[in-house]
Amino acid sequence: MTNTMRAISYLGPGQLELREVPIPQPNDGELIVKVKAATTCGTDLKTYRRGHRLFKPPIPFGHEWAGMVHSVGEGVSKFKEGDAVVGVNSAPCNSCYYCRRGRPQLCENLESRFLYGTFADYVRIPAHIVAQNTHPLPSNLPFEEAAILEPLACAVLGATYADIHLGDTVAIIGAGAQGLMQMQIVKAMGAARVIMLGRQASRLERAKALGASAVLSTLEVNGVEAVRELTDGRGADVVIEAAGSAETWVLAVNMARPGATVVQFSGLADGTHVSFDARHLHYDEITMKGVFHHTPRTVEMALHLLASGQVKGSALVDGTIPLSQVEDGLLRMQRSEVIKLAVVPEL
Ligand SMILES: [Zn+2]
Ligand SMILES: [Zn+2]
Repeated sequence: MTNTMRAISYLGPGQLELREVPIPQPNDGELIVKVKAATTCGTDLKTYRRGHRLFKPPIPFGHEWAGMVHSVGEGVSKFKEGDAVVGVNSAPCNSCYYCRRGRPQLCENLESRFLYGTFADYVRIPAHIVAQNTHPLPSNLPFEEAAILEPLACAVLGATYADIHLGDTVAIIGAGAQGLMQMQIVKAMGAARVIMLGRQASRLERAKALGASAVLSTLEVNGVEAVRELTDGRGADVVIEAAGSAETWVLAVNMARPGATVVQFSGLADGTHVSFDARHLHYDEITMKGVFHHTPRTVEMALHLLASGQVKGSALVDGTIPLSQVEDGLLRMQRSEVIKLAVVPEL
């Protein structure tokens, strides 16, 4: 048996390399997982195109995953060799200032202990992630769909912050992976109507097929007026911004009815400033929330949503590719030909 494997290394913007490296050995509490599927993510594309604060090259690439336990470190009792598992890319320390105050997504020790390197034949799952954020794969869930657990857990946190009530009309800006996930989640939470706003006809069509009540092209209509028209002039009960620009952050606030909650889900580049109409924020009692990352609880919730079919993973993963085509896959994402792809090392 060979003791090397293939792994994609990120060497800087525009530079990926498929390398032959040793198969890792598990330390105490760790798992070595044979990767069955690792999905591509908007963050991977951003990193590939222009670098990313969290990914300092050279670094193993890829962070979404599902697979089979290949070997087990000392002290792991939850899993054994051959188990099908799925998990995410981080877990909180549970002892810092923010963890003790119930905000594990703000954990001071999160970023230093991220998981990297899922675009590979095998990946090491660190002990803190094994203990808190790794789960048995539900038997009805294919690896390729389960692998979207991490971004879905982020979407669940966003939707949880949105304060959805039964019968609400929710407007979501952005019909990419996050917008399409949020749409399915808020419907599961009881939203009666979801209005999707976006720029690309093909994505809006996909939103419609997945159950959007109305889809609006922001290239063709004034989003604020169109949402008001659909809500007796009021605006949406809840607005979720998942498009990622300063303009859409403002649009989100402007289409919110008095008393609404607005979730600013997308992160903008460091140094970006956004200005809002203070009269609307104050007199209309707008609640605006930032949201980041996920928590062990939202990871569990995301897994239940996938297993129950309330969120359709198949609607977001547009095919499988081998390790040798990761770069090509990212370029297909950039051209908006696909939302996500599952990298399957066995192909
Ligand atoms: Zn991701
Ligand atoms: Zn912490």
